[in-house]
Amino acid sequence: MPIVDLHCHSTASDGLLPPSDLARRALANGVELLSLTDHDNIDGLSDARSVVEAGGMQFVNGVEISIEWGGLQVHILGYAFDAACEVLNAGLAGIRSGRIDRARRMGDALAVVGIEGAFAGALRYAENATLVSRAHFARYLVEIGVCKDVRSVFESYIVPGKPGYVEHQWVSLADAVGWVRSAGGVAAIAHPGRYKLSRTEMRQMLDEFKMLGGQGIEVVSGSHSADNVSLYGRLAREYGFLASCGSDFHGSGESYVDLGRVASLPAGLVPIWEAF
Ligand code: AMP
Ligand code: MN
Ligand code: MN
Ligand code: MN
Repeated sequence: MPIVDLHCHSTASDGLLPPSDLARRALANGVELLSLTDHDNIDGLSDARSVVEAGGMQFVNGVEISIEWGGLQVHILGYAFDAACEVLNAGLAGIRSGRIDRARRMGDALAVVGIEGAFAGALRYAENATLVSRAHFARYLVEIGVCKDVRSVFESYIVPGKPGYVEHQWVSLADAVGWVRSAGGVAAIAHPGRYKLSRTEMRQMLDEFKMLGGQGIEVVSGSHSADNVSLYGRLAREYGFLASCGSDFHGSGESYVDLGRVASLPAGLVPIWEAF
């Protein structure tokens, strides 16, 4: 199997490396097919593509879209789409403007527990103010000494039930799959092992996704256990989904898995890149 990484982040969302540096790191790690999948933003694609193609390797357009399903925040990957598609661009722009409003509310919620200035602080870590993420808040809270690392900030402050977490209206599964398809791309469920869904709910989501025209599922992910890989490999076969794999690399020090350092797809699955 070629070395493929179809999930990572640059400074165009909440990654630590600019798109071109990220692409250079992927080449250095031997990645032969790369996709950059920033959250709700596709501004990094052309820089990453240039570096990868100049290095003689392949690049495919990608994005990771933030949606809500069953009351949870879920991520949908889009691949191999036309980056000029107006429907897709307008949809992503809408999510980004919602992110600013949410970040302001997070700042207010943190102020209530005595953490002042978090909105402005998080924005300093966001290259693009419209793509402010909880990861940027986490970096700021580490900077001011509230927690020792990003992981602890999430656990103590910015996950559901914690003081800096605010409800937010994301788009629907139908919206995200529809935009990717409008742009001629392939949609995949990102890291299904991360969602706190019962087996029945997971199947409901997969049924709905398939009915909407979704085609892929991320079987191998930097955030998946070996059990997750075998479970979602089985579900991919059962549903006839294309199988995807990616590190979900955000930067060294914040990610366990480096670019391209993911396990191979389990046998008997159709790799999603066959559809690109
Ligand atoms: P957002 O899209 O603004 O809700 O932020 C979600 C991002 O925060 C994810 O894409 C990860 O980069 C990061 N993240 C989520 N949960 C954790 C965690 N437990 N530890 C570290 N980073 C996390
Ligand atoms: Mn992220
Ligand atoms: Mn994700
Ligand atoms: Mn991701």
